[in-house]
Amino acid sequence: MTGRPKALAARGPSPAQLTPNSAHPQLAINGGAPVRTEPWPTYDKGAVFVTRSDEEAALRAVRSHLYFRYDCRPHLETECGQLEAELCEFFGCRHALAVSSGTAALALSIMAARIPAGSLVACPGFTFAATPSAIILAGCKPLLVEVDENLHLDLADLRRRWTPQIRAIVVVHMRGFAADMAQLAGFAAEHGVPLIEDAVPALGAELHGRKLGTFGLAGAFSTQSDKSLNCGEGGFLVTDDSAVFARAVVLSGAYEGRYLRHFPEGPPPLETDLDLPLYNFRMDEIRAALLRGELTRLKVRLGCFRRNYEYVAARLADLPGIAIRQPVASGAYLGEAFIFRATAADPNWFARALRAEGIDARNLGATDDTNIRVYWNWRFMFPGMEGKEVMDLLPSTTRYLGQAVDIPLSSTLSPADCDHLIAAVRKVAGSG
Ligand SMILES: *Cc1c(COP(=O)(O)O)cnc(C)c1O
Repeated sequence: MTGRPKALAARGPSPAQLTPNSAHPQLAINGGAPVRTEPWPTYDKGAVFVTRSDEEAALRAVRSHLYFRYDCRPHLETECGQLEAELCEFFGCRHALAVSSGTAALALSIMAARIPAGSLVACPGFTFAATPSAIILAGCKPLLVEVDENLHLDLADLRRRWTPQIRAIVVVHMRGFAADMAQLAGFAAEHGVPLIEDAVPALGAELHGRKLGTFGLAGAFSTQSDKSLNCGEGGFLVTDDSAVFARAVVLSGAYEGRYLRHFPEGPPPLETDLDLPLYNFRMDEIRAALLRGELTRLKVRLGCFRRNYEYVAARLADLPGIAIRQPVASGAYLGEAFIFRATAADPNWFARALRAEGIDARNLGATDDTNIRVYWNWRFMFPGMEGKEVMDLLPSTTRYLGQAVDIPLSSTLSPADCDHLIAAVRKVAGSG
């Protein structure tokens, strides 16, 4: 199925639903009429923002019958090679490496930074489980750090928890919101450890005019179906450091000198490619072709995310009872999710009431849900520990996630969808 980027239906809420508190319309959770009955558009079904031209691009690769990236063709004639050149252009960075997943891109970044096995690597307690998993995959141990009321990594807590065994910091631009990179980079430099970005949720978002993923030693991205570039499964990393890049290329599976194809201007600063193990994390030609097609329209998609987010946030900014997640700088977010803390009503009830109104909302820290973005559900990290014990490890993060309501904002939302969201949040907040 090909999803259309624009306008689904133009059916908006009735004027009564848009007027806050007018006669207190009965909540759907209590048997009233819901704000909307059609399903909330989500990006996690995959088939959004994919067009005919992307199919054509993938077909080009299929018809070539050359699916392996390191074949007889010159590097820049392969789909992978061209994708990487186009990513360098998009990010304004020196190197890009297309790989098999975001998890692989992050693990490769850590391994290529030569973080010794067994080291601690700090990461926030609010991220997708893939972040600590990638740290483990790279032979290290995740050390979880608190997030603040806006769900950004809390530097004061990192300072408190600091030990010399921490040899790297992985920062996450979770749900598309930039972390405070100036502060974190300063802290990392002060302690002489690399800062690596899990920029997966923020593909294309900027902080002070610079693309997220280009602040740290390396930035990792995913191209799995939930993300802004979607080839089913895949990912890439970006870096300006040629030594880190060369190691990442070899580790990803460029054996017998194939890594040299990534360095047309001369051999990289690398010992020899035999000094590193080969994990096959390679990208293939068909997916790279699909991504090249999507990359040409990424700007349009980013524009949709931003337009929807700004529209919704502006119309709910004044609403009592909710505290909208604030960016670290003006506009420093992608807009793929609308998150607020419910401060006057039970947040879990708030999310359930929104779902009854037809809006796909989740209370992030709900204990009757197993949201894989909250640290206490990463049981692989806490063998032998009980739920409550784990939740006490990061008390602030537990509190803020417990208050947070998360609503996915697909880039395909129409203005009518956004109006439904606004009407539903106002309705629930007004009756809570
Ligand atoms: C999706 C995601 C990943 C993992 O990407 P995959 O391609 O699924 O491996 C990593 N980090 C975050 C924050 C994510 O949202």
